[in-house]
Amino acid sequence: MKDALPVFDALDVQHPNAWTELHFSNAFELLAATILSAQCTDARVNQVTPALFKKYPSPKKLAAADPAELETLIQPTGFFRMKTRSLIGMANAVVDRHGGQVPPDMDALVDLPGVGRKTANVVLGHALGLPGFPVDRHVLRVASRIGLISAKAAEDAVKAEKKLTTLLPPDRWTRASDTLILHGRRICKPKPLCERCAVRAHCAYYRKR
Ligand code: SF4
Repeated sequence: MKDALPVFDALDVQHPNAWTELHFSNAFELLAATILSAQCTDARVNQVTPALFKKYPSPKKLAAADPAELETLIQPTGFFRMKTRSLIGMANAVVDRHGGQVPPDMDALVDLPGVGRKTANVVLGHALGLPGFPVDRHVLRVASRIGLISAKAAEDAVKAEKKLTTLLPPDRWTRASDTLILHGRRICKPKPLCERCAVRAHCAYYRKR
């Protein structure tokens, strides 16, 4: 696609309030919430995090958490043993390597236990004011249907991120990701609602139908 900006402009109009649906008040909370959101809905994570953040309001407190107590608290989000290890490991690494501050840097973030590129991009873009383009299954599906990325790139989130970040300036990355995610949840679902879609005129999948 030669000029992708009209696509992102149309998505902006269709989803004017696009933003992460996770609740947080700082980078540490968003990092923890994003780790919990793996294989879980944002709504369910938001039910668990108020008590979590009250009991463990800082990386230092979370690093010292009793694993059994933490497991009980986060159990509703699923995979709670693995997530407990990730949360305590992440908190220890933030304390030991970064003086208790979530590092504003992709390489340092993905070095933390339980943190991959998607989580790092979520935190960079939503809590640290830096460019970040989170790529999840919705982004991959919608971007590939429209023709923003190739079918091959849609099989590899890192390749897809690389391509998508060439399509618009860094200060638009996070919002572009948020609109693609919302579009995937609400309109371009696995069974797409093309008649309600604002980017029909630009969409390769729609043209082929
Ligand atoms: S036209 Fe249909 S397939 Fe294309 S982006 Fe819109 S909903 Fe998805």
